[in-house]
Amino acid sequence: MANFLRRLFGSGKGESKGGGKTAKDPVCGMDVDVNKPAATSVHQGQTYYFCAVGCKKAFDENPDKYLSAEGEAKGGMHSH
Ligand SMILES: [Zn+2]
Repeated sequence: MANFLRRLFGSGKGESKGGGKTAKDPVCGMDVDVNKPAATSVHQGQTYYFCAVGCKKAFDENPDKYLSAEGEAKGGMHSH
């Protein structure tokens, strides 16, 4: 049912090929395939995708820490 909407609004951004849609892992900043995430978490009605279970755990323990850091490039926090 959402197919025609997708045709109207979708894929205008020229993102990665193959129809894969990605979301940013808020913990480490990696692009995660939303069709095959290693882990997901819902926080305040929004779904977040993670490259690894460890990232989800870190997020679940302190989501505000990662969400408030959004927009600010942070590196070196990846531990897996
Ligand atoms: Zn990660």
